[in-house]
Amino acid sequence: MKKESGICITFDDNYIYQWHGARQLFSTYGVRATFFVSWFHQLTDHQRLTFHDLRRHGHEVGYHTVNHPKASEFLTHFSPADYITQEVLPGITLMKEHGFEPTAFCYPYSDRNEQLDQELLRYFKILRWGSPDPSLWFHPRSGNQVVCAGNLDLAVNPERSLDQVKIELQQAKDQNSIVVYYAHRIGEGGIPYSALEEICKAAYDLDLEFYTLSEIAEPPSSSSAQVTILPGMAVF
Ligand SMILES: [Zn+2]
Repeated sequence: MKKESGICITFDDNYIYQWHGARQLFSTYGVRATFFVSWFHQLTDHQRLTFHDLRRHGHEVGYHTVNHPKASEFLTHFSPADYITQEVLPGITLMKEHGFEPTAFCYPYSDRNEQLDQELLRYFKILRWGSPDPSLWFHPRSGNQVVCAGNLDLAVNPERSLDQVKIELQQAKDQNSIVVYYAHRIGEGGIPYSALEEICKAAYDLDLEFYTLSEIAEPPSSSSAQVTILPGMAVF
């Protein structure tokens, strides 16, 4: 049975080889991450194979639009339906042709609105965005549809520190919740490899469960609410 307290680490864009380069670190601590890919149509065969390899290691590959537009700017010229036909369907069709079935979506620039949420939830189980407000980063174990994440690009985000992240991990533990994060590069210009390792180790030491994003979209476990139907029992 999976634990109620956990951490969900996500990465955006297409820093495929940097992400793949951390696979040993991930497997050391049992990390299962979620990688949101944009510009899928520009990937080489080798890059696509590398994504498959990440998936084989238990990670999730999610979707992050075709051209990475800012939704609010896109919607000054086009409709939410256009967003789906231009930025969602071509990419997920191509991903499916290459053996990926993305069920999680992430908004470029964390620029979202509720109308787009509703459109996107017809195609994905769960949507992710980000905010600097830490009160929005903690989520229940299941049943999530739109989740907010905190930033882990510690090398370039002066608002964030490793000590803060450790406090947040403890908070997830104490509150029995899942803390969701996002980063981009691993290394310079993103989350330093050493910081990523320290965060993964701290989560491991706290016995937090590592979740992919789609896993926290699953409906609550029915085990406690299960009703046994006996023969002859009326079912309403
Ligand atoms: Zn992005």
